[in-house]
Amino acid sequence: MPSKSSVRRRQALAWLCATALPLLARPAAADNTSAPRIVASFSILADVARELAPAGTEVTALVGPDADAHVFEARPADGRRLAQADLVLMNGLNFEGWMERLVNVSGYRGTVVVLSEGVPTRQAGRAVDPHIWQDPALMRRCVAQLASALQQRWPAQAAEIQAREAAYLRRLDDTDARIRTLLAAVPRAQRRVITSHDAFGYFGAAYGIDFIAPQGWNTHSEPSAAAVGRIVRQVQAMGVRAIFVENISDPRLVQRIASEGGARVGGTLYSDALSRPGGPADTYLRLLEHNARTLAEALAPGP
Ligand SMILES: [Zn+2]
Repeated sequence: MPSKSSVRRRQALAWLCATALPLLARPAAADNTSAPRIVASFSILADVARELAPAGTEVTALVGPDADAHVFEARPADGRRLAQADLVLMNGLNFEGWMERLVNVSGYRGTVVVLSEGVPTRQAGRAVDPHIWQDPALMRRCVAQLASALQQRWPAQAAEIQAREAAYLRRLDDTDARIRTLLAAVPRAQRRVITSHDAFGYFGAAYGIDFIAPQGWNTHSEPSAAAVGRIVRQVQAMGVRAIFVENISDPRLVQRIASEGGARVGGTLYSDALSRPGGPADTYLRLLEHNARTLAEALAPGP
């Protein structure tokens, strides 16, 4: 009969073979458990965080490209991703109203950075327009806030984060200048456009374009027949030249308004999400410029 100690030795050896050896045998490239992890609520924030975060940081978004964060339904895997995060980012202003509960049930107990804090907003009564990223000047404030949160979380990389922030702000300013050049060609009388939900108020205020939408600041409910009828009459009365579909919305509503109002669909604007990688708006800066170019091409007087 084997002694107790030899049984223990055999058990220990069996444990080593079952757990430790496969770990040792795993290729180093697949073992990224030590990489810092940032989870952002939606694709636009994830892209900006990727620009600012220290090299090697893994940044993911809960709501991916072309998806609507207003009506997102989280899966168990999203909670697990949050639980493993080192830092969590969200927009706030009730854009991702589901986020607080999801963070609570996930067990994540770290910092949640709310990028809209302290940013001046458009308001109507008690409602607030959450789409602050559509104005690069407001995004500048979010970038500063994000950089300081990253420096607090990873103080050893503070200088790297600061350098990344400065480089990104220069690119943001260049994009803003290009948008102003693109839109300068659009006459004042043509600066009136229709989208499906009211996501471009900040862009409109920054660049002098009036956006009208049958759906309000969120997409929680379908617009009423009366609201759609009102928009169709506005299209006819004001001679709106172009109506735009959005990457996160069903295009049929906008197509119907265009055909009933006698306007044409001027293209796709990226409102609340990036395009897929390789698409025309797969980074935040490309999103801004794509939208400006699409508007300018549809609204500027033809040759
Ligand atoms: Zn929206």
